[in-house]
Amino acid sequence: MRIEQDLKLGFKDVLFRPKRSTLKSRSQVELAREYTFKHSGRKWSGVPIVAANMDSVGSFAMAASLAEHGALTAIHKHYTVADWADFVATADSKVIQNVMVSTGTSDKDFQKTFDIMALSEEITFICVDIANGYSEQLVEYVAKVRAAFPDKVITAGNVVTGDMVEELILAGADIVKVGIGPGSVCTTRVKTGVGYPQLSAIIECADAAHGLGGSIIGDGGCSCAGDVAKAFGGGADFVMLGGMLAGHTESGGDVIEKDGKKFMKFYGMSSKSAMDKHSGGVANYRAAEGKTVLLPFRGEVGNTIQDIMGGVRSTCTYVGAAKLKELTKRTTFIRVLEQENNVYG
Ligand code: 5GP
Repeated sequence: MRIEQDLKLGFKDVLFRPKRSTLKSRSQVELAREYTFKHSGRKWSGVPIVAANMDSVGSFAMAASLAEHGALTAIHKHYTVADWADFVATADSKVIQNVMVSTGTSDKDFQKTFDIMALSEEITFICVDIANGYSEQLVEYVAKVRAAFPDKVITAGNVVTGDMVEELILAGADIVKVGIGPGSVCTTRVKTGVGYPQLSAIIECADAAHGLGGSIIGDGGCSCAGDVAKAFGGGADFVMLGGMLAGHTESGGDVIEKDGKKFMKFYGMSSKSAMDKHSGGVANYRAAEGKTVLLPFRGEVGNTIQDIMGGVRSTCTYVGAAKLKELTKRTTFIRVLEQENNVYG
């Protein structure tokens, strides 16, 4: 039995150390970045925030709204090819270029991805997404998708360690999705005892990916704009958000009224709610690894994304980064035992 003694950190274990800066205002900070991806050689530029491929987050409406801010949306797996056909027939080019097509690893998933990709040359991103990215099946599937789509940007995950990041990049992934267990509606750590503190996962996986010319998405665990900034500061090229973008008009859930207040249901993709909806219930060999919560309804997502972007811009001014691209270089984290003053709750 081996116990790793290195300390692993989450977002709540650190703060940024302020640094001297010549920036006068957060409006001077450029959040858009340009990427050239390792295998596909494709270029993409925009704000590297990604809406999660969850039922109540990664909708077509979310994609339309986030694209206005330059951000990406990983569209959830439960739209049909016909739904996609309607979307590409009516959506703006900019929106189509800012979506990811999510897929599992079955033959049926492969065929569906093929059919969706055939609808428009402008669809650029494929996101191969399974809960346990350590499965041999994922590596083989990524190689198969890479062979079929040599010029598309392929994302694969989820993993949390450098060895597996390298393996997925070598198999053909341009971007590796990092995060096991940090999600706001995830119960994996409780149900299985498996996980990895998210900030350390990002720092270690970014290092592994960048060494090979690949990129990473820090996926899950951000509960405020400061956490998003910490994910970028730790080296994430992209940051994926579920809960922070849920509960909005564009999220695609039903608005529920209770005691005069409005709420929206938000649930994990491995929760009982999701399995009841999409798989006819929880199969008897498995446990649900996600929860269902009622979020206060927050209206349009535009205000929320601007708030998040404003927070990250402000972080950049505190550490003297004129561009988001410079944030990691300008980051020194300090370990802390307290985050904010909660005297008023
Ligand atoms: P959040 O931003 O809400 O903290 O995390 C979003 C991420 O949580 C998703 O992108 C996905 O990786 C993960 N996730 C979503 N649903 C579930 C689930 O039911 N179980 C687990 N373990 N993770 C989930």
